[in-house]
Amino acid sequence: MKKFIFTLTLCAAACNSAAFASTLVTPERATQMLNKHEQHFDKRIVQVAPNVYTAIGYHGATTSMIVGDDGVIMIDSLMGPTSASNALKDFRQYSDKPVKAIIYTHSHGDHTGGAKAYAGASDVKVIGPANMGHHHGTDKVLDQIQKKREVRQFGRKLPPHEQSNRGVAPAVTIDHDRGTGFIKPTIEVKGDYKTRIAGIDIEIYAAAGETNDAMFIWLPNQKVLFSGDNFYQAFPNLYAIRGTPYRDVRTWSRSVARMAGFEPMALVGGHTTPILGQQKATAALKDYSEAIQSVFDQTVAGMNKGLDPVTIAQSVELPAHLRDKPYLTEFYGTVGHASRAIFAGMFGWFDGNPTNLNPMSNADTARQFARLAGGTAKLQANLEKAMKAEDYQWALVLTDHLSYLDGVDQYKNRDIKIKALRGMAVRDYNAPNRNYYFTYANELEALQKAVK
Ligand SMILES: [Zn+2]
Repeated sequence: MKKFIFTLTLCAAACNSAAFASTLVTPERATQMLNKHEQHFDKRIVQVAPNVYTAIGYHGATTSMIVGDDGVIMIDSLMGPTSASNALKDFRQYSDKPVKAIIYTHSHGDHTGGAKAYAGASDVKVIGPANMGHHHGTDKVLDQIQKKREVRQFGRKLPPHEQSNRGVAPAVTIDHDRGTGFIKPTIEVKGDYKTRIAGIDIEIYAAAGETNDAMFIWLPNQKVLFSGDNFYQAFPNLYAIRGTPYRDVRTWSRSVARMAGFEPMALVGGHTTPILGQQKATAALKDYSEAIQSVFDQTVAGMNKGLDPVTIAQSVELPAHLRDKPYLTEFYGTVGHASRAIFAGMFGWFDGNPTNLNPMSNADTARQFARLAGGTAKLQANLEKAMKAEDYQWALVLTDHLSYLDGVDQYKNRDIKIKALRGMAVRDYNAPNRNYYFTYANELEALQKAVK
């Protein structure tokens, strides 16, 4: 109940009562928040320790250079060789020693695709998790739809006036050469691994989270921790709306708790700005782990009560002392989506309510609702009212019902849906939601032009 009040306060009169998301605010507030978050994508190199440098804003992810006695070690390599060579060029103002090794934190393309730009023609060690390359976000058989949803989540095709950012990456990145600089690891790490390269002691720890093959890298002498994508400054994407298999939330929390145990002086996330200072970095990791665990615990408690996933998701909230932490703001993942993912991941699609064992078709439901409302015209009148009241979530529900009904001007109905989607988009500060709403609206608009 508390969250409901919180939502209404944030939304004020400009928001609607039907939509239930803590990331819906006024359009002005959403823009203001997203603009402030942009600081994490400003292109620059940050010195995180006397001999450790992190590049931000060269692509979506971070990449780092550790300067050793007779060479440098690179952590992650961005999406492609162009971005990686841009970063390397700027790293070179701090050291021109040869690259001795590249270490991947996990298999995602935005961390591995540019390695060749670092390696050049020389024979460098490439250290990565075992079974790398076998790990995909989704099954390949789903490529057709997954690519579409990926474009929506990241807003890859949005016009400049609809772009903000991607939650943990800038709105625009260099992607023409994605993956072309990938080098398969020459050393595959399973479990914990310690090594010394160019006089630098390096410890690598397996730490599943966003991916099963995630690892974090610890420099015991510099006390620098590279977390990969199990930490960045935004609420973690425990579920990605582009569609991914279940990410084990409990393990993710444990992995981050393990990182906190090292009490790093500098925490370099897989994306966004590093956190410097032992107290701040350790607190951020502890908070992150606790936030993830709390969403898990609340969801499981709701499941044990026999509640359905939507009801549970609407009641889960971050503990009060964590709610205002900048690194837990829902710019990327959301608490509600995470909760629903936990339900689905542990229990599958059935919400436990027998009504939903053999549901009516959407078309039948729409027809029954129209009959109950007193006819299609009544639904349409209600839709107009909803749009006037800026009750966009309810408007979306109504346009969906109307899309199944005979005698409805579907061109006009789609037009209203486009407006409602844009109404939602401008009010949402969660970047994936916002990008998805905008992109879907634009897809419908293209369809309108085709059928006209
Ligand atoms: Zn990443």
